[in-house]
Amino acid sequence: MYPDLNLFIAGTWRKTSQDLAVVNPATEEEIGRLPCAARSDLDDALAAAREGFRIWRRTSPRERSDTILRAARLMRERQEEIAQSITLEHGKPLRQARLEVIRGAEFFEWDAGEAMRTYGRIIPAAPGHKFAVHHQPIGVVAAFSPWNFPMSQPARKIGGALAAGCSIILKAAEETPAGAIHIARAFQDAGLPPGVLNLVFGDPAEISSYLIAQDAVRLVAFTGSTAVGQHLTTVASGHMTPVLMELGGHAPVIVCEDTDVEAAALSGAVRKMRNAGQVCTSPTRFFVHEAIFDDFSKTFVKRARETIVGNGLDDATEMGPCANHRRVPVLTALVDDARAKGATVATGGARHGETGYFFQPTVLLNVPDTARIMQEEPFGPIAVLNPVKTLDHAIEQANSVPYGLAGYAFTNRADYIDRLIDEVAVGNLSINTLEASMPETPFGGVKSSGYGREGGAEGLDNYMTIKNVWHSAR
Ligand code: NAD
Repeated sequence: MYPDLNLFIAGTWRKTSQDLAVVNPATEEEIGRLPCAARSDLDDALAAAREGFRIWRRTSPRERSDTILRAARLMRERQEEIAQSITLEHGKPLRQARLEVIRGAEFFEWDAGEAMRTYGRIIPAAPGHKFAVHHQPIGVVAAFSPWNFPMSQPARKIGGALAAGCSIILKAAEETPAGAIHIARAFQDAGLPPGVLNLVFGDPAEISSYLIAQDAVRLVAFTGSTAVGQHLTTVASGHMTPVLMELGGHAPVIVCEDTDVEAAALSGAVRKMRNAGQVCTSPTRFFVHEAIFDDFSKTFVKRARETIVGNGLDDATEMGPCANHRRVPVLTALVDDARAKGATVATGGARHGETGYFFQPTVLLNVPDTARIMQEEPFGPIAVLNPVKTLDHAIEQANSVPYGLAGYAFTNRADYIDRLIDEVAVGNLSINTLEASMPETPFGGVKSSGYGREGGAEGLDNYMTIKNVWHSAR
């Protein structure tokens, strides 16, 4: 079920002289060898993307849209094959991998529609003059996608670029290359002209510093950690190249005293463990009104403890391993630090089992503000539950991190909701649900969570540039 791994440049698949192992995080077994791009491969990708852009920008929006829709249909048809490869390389339960494939297809379908809605505008002018604002594709995009959603993360970048009329060189995550490879296959089979989509792998720092420095690259699109995003933004600014940055999050969940305590606690515990917590919108810091704190934490801890951890290929599994070996020591250190500063580890807190990169579903109670986890995104299956006295206190805590990606609240009080909308500093606020975004809604952050939006009517903005045309009849 796992695909042959290749680079995809100028419409053809290629191996290289250097490769690296792709490992199943549930078993630690090698499942494939991934070719790494040398400088000459990157030069080929740049030349292909330049030519791809020349062709694709002159392709009608209708035809671009049709090609994207054909590719999305193929991805839906190949759902099972793609999902199996995602579970093998990433570890997530197959059920979740299947949903990811559909979500990836939905991103493409949304962007395909938006391809035909990149409207400009007419500005009133004196007789004999016409002012018109045109939206035009920005050029070659250098994009970098992470390992937490091997298919839907690349889909965001490729969908936006192709719908806007750009060509793209995507460096997808080395740990989880199959999702992006399946996407490239689908586009090849759907008849995308060579060079419009190019896929490379290798040394992330080497590839990004080389590509970003090229004149042809007109947008850097990145999803990943805030630290890497800040670095790439600095490099891009040296070339006056704009960036689209989807960075870390550390989502607060404000649970008010009027809510259905059991329902909120159960949904929180289930949602926290989705994708083993490796989601930038994962609900992590729960600020619960003190009147319901005991009931909420009892239900939450029980459900978290009951989470069935195992190989994602097993039907019963609710939570798989972390996607790579780096996460387990990071998570262990965060728990140890919180414990040392006075937090209670109500369940979990350590590696799970001997083989694979599993971490126990973990709940920390009464975590002091001085603990590292109150500022650092865990990106793993750890929840913090802290009591708060008032909504003021909860909002102050929610906003006390450098991040501002997703935020959640459980309440039905109109006055509370009004304040939450105005005062919680995030790009995506969800009330009475722990879903953060849909293809048709704009997704992105404020503060250190980055800038720019993916999805929604705003989703193509970063991939386009604005040209004002002044036409004088005289
Ligand atoms: P990391 O910071 O080393 O890498 C994050 C991602 O950036 C990876 O995909 C990596 O391949 C890529 N990367 C690293 N250096 C790069 C460079 N110089 N140029 C281009 N790409 C580069 O951390 P990690 O251990 O892979 O992941 C852990 C952290 O990453 C988490 O704490 C989380 O904050 C963040 N992350 C965020 C998302 C997200 O959806 N926002 C997804 C995955 C990881």
